[in-house]
Amino acid sequence: MKNAKPTAADAASTPGHSPGVPPGLPHHAHAAEHAHGHADDSHHDHTHGTPASAEAALALAEEYCRERGEKLTPIRRKVLELLLTSGRATKAYSLLDDMRQIHPGSAPPTVYRALDFLLSAGLVHKIESINAFAVCHDLTQCQHGILVVCQQCGNVTELHQPALREALVAQIENAGYRLAGDGIELKGLCSACQAAQAAGN
Ligand SMILES: [Zn+2]
Ligand SMILES: [Zn+2]
Repeated sequence: MKNAKPTAADAASTPGHSPGVPPGLPHHAHAAEHAHGHADDSHHDHTHGTPASAEAALALAEEYCRERGEKLTPIRRKVLELLLTSGRATKAYSLLDDMRQIHPGSAPPTVYRALDFLLSAGLVHKIESINAFAVCHDLTQCQHGILVVCQQCGNVTELHQPALREALVAQIENAGYRLAGDGIELKGLCSACQAAQAAGN
């Protein structure tokens, strides 16, 4: 169960069901906002560059790794922090550049290995459509949501609609397929980029 996230009480739940979301939470409303609203999505607190929320997320990630018997080493932690403060999908080479500002000797494999770890831990997503990486929007979710990715700027919104996701996965399996990886990724253009495009035309 490598994608299970630590939401305490749900440790024993069946993967594929929707633990982690207390009944009665207005998830539909949130998801609808997400779909329309600006992809900066203030709903989740992965606020850009706000040290407090990044610190909180890092502490959560650290705890999560400890529970899995793994370590959020300083390099892994730094890469996660860079992704948290970026607030959007970021290319590996750009992460490497940032790492070199901090640790001038950083070699590509160091960053790639850290990314591999964060991916396998389920803390970050690989955004295939733009070949970049983004932090999972909610480190406490047991299941990844459905990602909507702005193809222009790399804004990523994660829709947490377990029922929708399960229905989709069920259809995929009925058709004889198994998803490669944990990601369900939809290509989009965020509201900021739509506005920029409209202004430019
Ligand atoms: Zn996720
Ligand atoms: Zn955009």
